[in-house]
Amino acid sequence: LALTATACGSGRDGDTGGAKGGDTKGFAADSLIGVALPSKTSENWVLAGDLFTNGLKEAGFKSDVQYAGASTTVADQQAQITAMVTKGAKVIVIGATDAAQLSTQVAAAHAAGAKVIAYDRLITNTPDLDYYVAFDNFKVGQLQGQALLDGMKAKKPNGPYNIELFSGSPDDNNAGVFFNGAMDVLKPEIDKGNVVVASKQTDVKQTAIQGWKAEGAQARMDQLLTSTYGNKELDGVLSPNDTLARAIITSIKGAGKKIPVVTGQDSEVESVKSIMAGEQYMTINKDTRNLVKQTIEMVKALQAGNTPEVNDTKSYNNGVKVVDTYLLPPVAVTKANAAEAYANDPKLSPLTK
Ligand code: BGC
Repeated sequence: LALTATACGSGRDGDTGGAKGGDTKGFAADSLIGVALPSKTSENWVLAGDLFTNGLKEAGFKSDVQYAGASTTVADQQAQITAMVTKGAKVIVIGATDAAQLSTQVAAAHAAGAKVIAYDRLITNTPDLDYYVAFDNFKVGQLQGQALLDGMKAKKPNGPYNIELFSGSPDDNNAGVFFNGAMDVLKPEIDKGNVVVASKQTDVKQTAIQGWKAEGAQARMDQLLTSTYGNKELDGVLSPNDTLARAIITSIKGAGKKIPVVTGQDSEVESVKSIMAGEQYMTINKDTRNLVKQTIEMVKALQAGNTPEVNDTKSYNNGVKVVDTYLLPPVAVTKANAAEAYANDPKLSPLTK
């Protein structure tokens, strides 16, 4: 079985390393900071916008926070970044809508003396990216793969287990890293025959869901159920995030099938409810408050003329260079540890009671 585990975009090469970084002369404390976010494909992006607006204001900066629209995402984001450069932003924080389509804008930012930070998603094919701040994406995938195995084993002690694989949008560099992380855990079991991708759809071209769209995942699951699960049991589905997980579950319920073990990511409200109700099996907690806070710390360091703290100088090669990165740890959440995992989250904690 040939698994294409080298999915989309540039990868994550390995170990973590010590701190290192670029130099800067600093800039005025009330400077403009641009924040260009992708379209609102999941709750974390909605949260991030508000957190950046408030956090940058609190830190004394002016801010310009923009989202790419729902359809012309790439052109929107390119224009927004160009406008931020024109307005004299000193740092531009970018959650890329398409990892590989921003090199011209990022080069222009650099030429104007601005620093560029990739937020959550790496920007590829450019020497002009200064920093990357994200949750450890490879680890996210590993946690999803491990939870899938654990969840299936808890329901049925012995395999073989039938599973299906879904991955995120091919233009998002994270999608391939999540998939590779999950495959790092699943592939040995697939090779042993203990886990079977019954549809044989293991290539990223088959598993990817363009634009992270729920309707795309639902349609693909509908097709898989028809083509492969007429009289076969489906034990698990690797879903890269919560939005897609709920769409997959909707499809399975619609077909009158038993809900298998379904993974997720983002700790979206509806998915946390689903987990507590015993439907979705797991999600990942990547507390957006911490990621935004860490990004603003980088901005503050740059403002003061200091080198921002990074904790990984090896993992993220964007095709041109290895980008200095600050990685935060993701946490796997099932019904069993939800109360503990969300104890400090006033929005999610009440859902676990
Ligand atoms: C983020 C995920 C999110 C996905 C879709 C990814 O880049 O890391 O948290 O689920 O985009 O919005």
